[in-house]
Amino acid sequence: MQKGPMSFSSLGLSELILRAVDERGYTQPTPIQVETIPVVLSGKDVLAAAQTGTGKTAGFTLPLLQRLAAGPKVKANHIRSLVLTPTRELAVQVAESVATYGKHLPLKSGVVYGGVKINPQMMRLRSGIDVLVATPGRLMDLFRQNAVKFAQVETLVLDEADRMLDMGFIDDILEIIALLPRKRQNLLFSATFSNDIRKLSERLLNHPVQIEVSPRNSTAESVKQTVYEVDKNRKSALLSHLILNKNWQLVLVFTRTKNGADHLAQELERAGISTVVIHGDKKQNQRSRALKRFKEYKVRVLVATDVAARGLDINELPHVVNFDLPKVCEDYVHRIGRTGRAGSEGEAVSLVSADEINLLAAIETLIRQTLAREVESGFIPKHSVPLTHQAKARPKKPKKPKRQQERGKDHKPEKDKDSSGNKSRKSSKVQDMNKTKKAAAGKSRRRNDSEAVSPKQRTNSKTKHGMAQKSTTRKPRGKK
Ligand code: AMP
Repeated sequence: MQKGPMSFSSLGLSELILRAVDERGYTQPTPIQVETIPVVLSGKDVLAAAQTGTGKTAGFTLPLLQRLAAGPKVKANHIRSLVLTPTRELAVQVAESVATYGKHLPLKSGVVYGGVKINPQMMRLRSGIDVLVATPGRLMDLFRQNAVKFAQVETLVLDEADRMLDMGFIDDILEIIALLPRKRQNLLFSATFSNDIRKLSERLLNHPVQIEVSPRNSTAESVKQTVYEVDKNRKSALLSHLILNKNWQLVLVFTRTKNGADHLAQELERAGISTVVIHGDKKQNQRSRALKRFKEYKVRVLVATDVAARGLDINELPHVVNFDLPKVCEDYVHRIGRTGRAGSEGEAVSLVSADEINLLAAIETLIRQTLAREVESGFIPKHSVPLTHQAKARPKKPKKPKRQQERGKDHKPEKDKDSSGNKSRKSSKVQDMNKTKKAAAGKSRRRNDSEAVSPKQRTNSKTKHGMAQKSTTRKPRGKK
C-alpha cells in the first residue's frame, strides 16, 4: 500500500517527460502508473489487468518514451516500438497521448488503422517512426507492402488484448509477433483474463511482472449508479425528460443496436436535444466529426453502440446512460467506465424495462452490488420491474465474433459487434495474480454499499440479500 501521495518525479522519469506530464495537468500518478512505470523503465515484461479509465496509457507510454529517447535513431521504414490496439478510436487516442507526453523528446510517433487511405500512412512511415500505434489488420497490410519493417522493434505493447481477441485478431497478432526481433520488451494490458489471454501471455511474455490495481469486475467508486424503471415504449420520452429536467449538458448514451441508436437520436432531436451518433455503419470521418463536436460541447448527446464507443476518452464525462442494458454484462462495467474517470465524479443511469430483468440480475451479480432504483413521476411503468433475486441471473458469455475484416477491401467500417464484449476491471499490487484476485474480491465487497454481496453469498442467502434492495425513492416491490 502506498503511504501518502506519490509523485511522478519519484518514479524515475526524466525531466523532459515530467515537464510534459506537468503541462498535461497531472499532479499525481494513478495507481496503475505507480506500479507500471518503474517496471517498464527497468525493461521487464508486464502483464497488467487494467481497463481504460485507469490511466494505463500514460502508465506504459511515459516509460516507453523514456527508454526510446535513450536508444538509437530509427531507420527509414523502421519502427522502434509498436502499440497494437483493437480499434481505430483507441489507436487515435493512444497516439494522441504519445504525442502529448513525448512532445519535448526528439522522437517520432504515428498511428495507422484501416478504413482510410493507406498511402499517406506509407509516406509517414518512410522516414521511420519511434512509436507506432496500429490496429493489427492495417499493420499487416503495410507490412505486406513493404512499408514497415520490424527489425528495430524494442518494445511491443498489446493494449486491450482481450478485446483484440474478441474481435478475432489472434491470427494477425501471432503473425506480427513472429515477425518481431526475439529480444524485446513485451507489455500486455487486458481488462479480463480468459484462458485465451493466459495462453497468449504465456507465449508472448518473458517472466512478466503481474500488475493488478483494483478489483476486477467492479465499478469505480466515484460513479453513482441508478436504475430507472420504465416501460420500454417510454424510454426515449424519459430520457429527454431527464436530460432537460436535470439539465444534463454532456451525455453519452448506449444502445444495443445500430438501428436503435439512429432511432433514438431522431427522437432526441425531435425533443430539441442536439445529438450525434457513432456506430459501426458510420464512416470514419463521420465518427471523428461526431466525437469532436461532442467533446467540444457543440452537441449535448452522443449516442453510441458498445463497439463504436470502445476507447472513447472524454475527460470528465458527467453522465452515461444505458438506454438498454447490454446483452453481455461485462459491457456494463465498460460502459459506465466512461464516467467518473481518474477520480472525477460521474453518474451512470440505466433505463430498465421489465423484459430486461435477467440482464439486470446478471449485471448485479457481476458487479456484486444491488443497484439503487428510481421511478420518475409521470413515467411509472405499467409493467413493473421485478426484484433481481426473482430473476435468473445467468451472466451471458461473450460470443466469439467472426474475424474482424480490416484489411484489403475491408476498409469499410468495422463490424458493429454490439453483442460482443468482455470487460471488467483492473489493478494495484505487483504480485501473484491469483492472490490479488482473491484480495480484490474481498476489497470490492467492502467498498460497495452495505447490501453488496458476492455471487456466492447471493446464492446462499438469496432472499435476504435480494430483498435488501437499495432504493432511494420507493420501497422495493414484489413480483406482480
Ligand atoms: P486511460 O486509462 O489511459 O484511458 O486514461 C484515462 C483518463 O485519465 C485520460 O483522460 C487521461 O488523460 C487521464 N489521466 C491519466 N493519468 C492521469 C493522472 N495521473 N492524473 C489525472 N488524470 C490522468
